[in-house]
Amino acid sequence: MSLATLPNYCGGAWRPSQATQSLEVFNPATGEAIARVPLSPAAEVDQAVGAAAAAFPDWRRTPAADRIQCLFNLKRLMEEQIENLARSVTVECGKTLAEARAEIRRAIENVEVASGAPILLQGDFSEDIAAGIDELTIRQPLGVCACICPFNFPGMIPFWFMPYALACGNTYIVKPSERVPLTMQRLIELIAQAGFPKGVVNLVNGAKETVDALLDHPGIRAISFVGSTAVARYVYARAAAQGKRAQCQGGAKNPIVVLPDAEPEMTTRITADSAFGCAGQRCLAASLAVTVGEARRWFTEAIADAAASRVVGNGLEESVQMGPVISAQSMARIEQLVERGVQQGARPIVDGRRPTIRGCERGFFVRPTVLDDLAPEQELTGTEIFGPVLGLAHVATLDDAIAFANRGPYGNMACLFTSSGASARKFRCEVEAGNIGINIGVAAPMAYFPFSGAKESFFGDLHGQARHAFEFFTQTKVVIERWPREWSREF
Ligand code: NAD
Repeated sequence: MSLATLPNYCGGAWRPSQATQSLEVFNPATGEAIARVPLSPAAEVDQAVGAAAAAFPDWRRTPAADRIQCLFNLKRLMEEQIENLARSVTVECGKTLAEARAEIRRAIENVEVASGAPILLQGDFSEDIAAGIDELTIRQPLGVCACICPFNFPGMIPFWFMPYALACGNTYIVKPSERVPLTMQRLIELIAQAGFPKGVVNLVNGAKETVDALLDHPGIRAISFVGSTAVARYVYARAAAQGKRAQCQGGAKNPIVVLPDAEPEMTTRITADSAFGCAGQRCLAASLAVTVGEARRWFTEAIADAAASRVVGNGLEESVQMGPVISAQSMARIEQLVERGVQQGARPIVDGRRPTIRGCERGFFVRPTVLDDLAPEQELTGTEIFGPVLGLAHVATLDDAIAFANRGPYGNMACLFTSSGASARKFRCEVEAGNIGINIGVAAPMAYFPFSGAKESFFGDLHGQARHAFEFFTQTKVVIERWPREWSREF
């Protein structure tokens, strides 16, 4: 049976792409192809920009209090459709239904925070900066903005940016990951019902060629990107060369430090959820656990047990705790990286390669894997695996652990497990990462905080979510006004 090729959404209508190339989209739990995604050419990006640019003048002059009515509608529709949206995430991305529901919940939270636009768009005002002169700032939208998304959160990551861009009065183009384009199709259906005028939100499917067309299009003012570091760096440079604003979130290798005074049961459970949740395909997944002193003894055994006992299977089954990785290529890459680590001296105390998962024999599975004795200088210690693989390293002091954490190229997240406030305070201050967790395994900022990132994990200055997003999606106009007192008239 031939698979349907997904349409683009432009100017308020679904349009078949004229792309000459397309890719298959897979259900990673079954290995089955479920759709085809077009690799849209530059001409279709141009059409989307045209539609968004045409919608911009009216949308930007629509009062913010009216614009957010569409966001309220969208929130209600997403709440009503949360099960269907979660199912779509699980089918194309592989994560469990519980993880997928949590993902959509996070997307909804961003719609809620963006609905604070009337107050968050307020400017500043100084009366009498000199006699009869006032000075003020106004926040105005930029124009057409776009986001380029990764595969691991198809229902959430566009919402780190899009609701804020829209609330600020911009018009928008979403380019989903070509590996998980289905959930965004459903979300666009809801956006269409929510009352946004035609052309305010547009969707273009595709991969590199489509991204390049977005980066080079003179009609696009700002780019938000989330994905691997190599592509983040490329997108940041190419967008900047075209005079665009850009915020680009990259890859990660997140350390978790376990002190001897950490609470063992909680530390193990939370670390296992962080390392193996979403099959390790979270940019905030723990991928290195660094034990200090005595913690090595209890933590190593406990985390190995937690890894070995995790229930792996099709995420649509409620009892499953971990689903597949995204693709056959990803599975092969993870297995090769584990093999290289072992050849370079790591000890696989739980080896999850090439498992047989009953009922999912053609799926893309790697079971939880724990590699002990990673040395600081070993290649794997600084390499993002993006799979359910946790490396263990053991050091003598908190200072050693912080030095270990800071050695790597990435700076997305670092976490500490301890019952000491002083240790927590030192860690928070000295660790070079954008998101810090203390007795937390996935330090994902709520929608009313920025989603941070540092070093090779982020290129730019303003992050997604919350106030940062309002700043990113607006330009500040400064106005100085003179109204001499002697011009006052008596009426
Ligand atoms: P990816 O870099 O392969 O793809 C991301 C996007 O870039 C996709 O839309 C893709 O079409 C496009 N793209 C890919 N190659 C390109 C190229 N050569 N030129 C132009 N565009 C290109 O990333 P992925 O595999 O989809 O996602 C996983 C990565 O994303 C991991 O590295 C993960 O750490 C990272 N990530 C980071 C965060 C964060 O907040 N820092 C969040 C989620 C995921």
